[in-house]
Amino acid sequence: MSASEPISFQKYQDKKKKQEEEPINAVMVWLFCPSCKTIEYSEFTSPAGRAHKCGTQVEEAEVGIDLRAEATLTLHNLEVIEKLIKKNKKNRLFKLSIKHLYDALVMLKHSEEVYLNRLESLYNGQIPPYKGEIEDLKDKLPIKEENKLGLFISEFRFEPHLRFKS
Ligand SMILES: [Zn+2]
Repeated sequence: MSASEPISFQKYQDKKKKQEEEPINAVMVWLFCPSCKTIEYSEFTSPAGRAHKCGTQVEEAEVGIDLRAEATLTLHNLEVIEKLIKKNKKNRLFKLSIKHLYDALVMLKHSEEVYLNRLESLYNGQIPPYKGEIEDLKDKLPIKEENKLGLFISEFRFEPHLRFKS
């Protein structure tokens, strides 16, 4: 852009809007330790390979993801979990069954937060989610499963052991 060309506010808005609707492509990795049989994910790719804490070389499955889509789903999940936690908070001291559910929800919340943190560390900041209601976005998001609690499992997070069939 030359100095004499005025910056069009409309153009700026359009560009910003377009950027907010575009996928943010990134790569995450599933790691499988054949000795411990554990599976975990990492935001760090390692072309040279790496060893598990037990010393065994891990198997790696790199997966292309859309950070914005993953963040959109994770933020939705956190919202759902938060509502359920609130709903169960009052009763958790009285009913054992609810105490278990409550604890499970807190753990679930933690794992969603960890995932969101990893996404954000890949992006280097807060990821603006896709705009709109989740019902309207459903079709374009990589949803593999909706569980009983109403949480969405993205393709990346769906049954990672299936990625290691060897
Ligand atoms: Zn191991």
